[in-house]
Amino acid sequence: MKTLSGKDLAAAIRAQTEAEAAAGPQPRLAVVVATADEASLWYVRSIAKAAAGVGVACDVVDLGQRATAEQIGQTLSRLSADPNVHGVMLQTPLPAGASAQELAASIDPRKDVDGANPLSLGRLAAGLPAFPPATAAAVMALLDHYEVDLTGRRAVVVGRSTVVGKPLAHLLLDRHATVTISHSRTRDLAAVTSTADVLVAAAGRAGLIGAGHVAPGAVVIDVGTNPTDDGGLTGDVDSDAVAGVAAALTPVPGGVGPVTTALLLRHTARAANLP
Ligand code: NAP
Repeated sequence: MKTLSGKDLAAAIRAQTEAEAAAGPQPRLAVVVATADEASLWYVRSIAKAAAGVGVACDVVDLGQRATAEQIGQTLSRLSADPNVHGVMLQTPLPAGASAQELAASIDPRKDVDGANPLSLGRLAAGLPAFPPATAAAVMALLDHYEVDLTGRRAVVVGRSTVVGKPLAHLLLDRHATVTISHSRTRDLAAVTSTADVLVAAAGRAGLIGAGHVAPGAVVIDVGTNPTDDGGLTGDVDSDAVAGVAAALTPVPGGVGPVTTALLLRHTARAANLP
């Protein structure tokens, strides 16, 4: 089984982003945070570090875990109106009572570099220009990088979230794949996933996908990032189990994750250069 690393692709996207960032006004990304969740804060730190490496300014706006939906919405509106800010992102989880989908509507679609505003998702579904969520875009970028043919192929996405599963299904459809979305209520998940030429696991359940879920020769993209007891990360796919069945698999860590961060920064550089 081939390992589809995201590291080289992420490095290439970062290099391109650095050149784009240097060519115009310095791009600035604002990440709004209202959580003490350690995994989430780790991700935000990794974005800030990667941003510094490519010449993108990154402001982490920490409203604290007691922030109200109103405060978060006002902050997103303020940043959207700030001409010095080019990209705005709302990190989850949010305090109880705050809906990420509702609040993301306050992000100007031209600065919505993680495709969170429902308008961006609607435009994506309608085939109009919009920033896709960086994770969904990263899956497509990996498939393209490794020249995985999608036209007429069967793609199964496990997970139907607004940030990964749903936008990804639209992106795969646009590329002429025949797409099935599965989720926690899907009956006989293995029967569905084993029809896939391209299987994308985005459930957030460690080891959910085993050998019986994968068709021989399938390409498997593992979006899942699940914390392990030793402080590491593991995917949704049991890589040892599927090794004898799948043709190719993305590793966790080192697969979708670095490409996602790189694309978020590329979107920010592009947003800074919008006319
Ligand atoms: P989410 O909002 O919790 O959605 C998970 C989806 O998986 C839901 O649609 C859920 O079904 C489905 N699901 C859960 N258990 C299932 C099961 N046993 N069988 C089939 N489907 C199941 O999560 P998310 O935000 O989409 O993220 C998914 C995973 O990707 C997480 O591990 C997250 O950490 C990771 N992630 C990684 C990156 C990256 O850059 N690598 C970025 C974003 C997210 P229901 O809708 O029925 O509940």
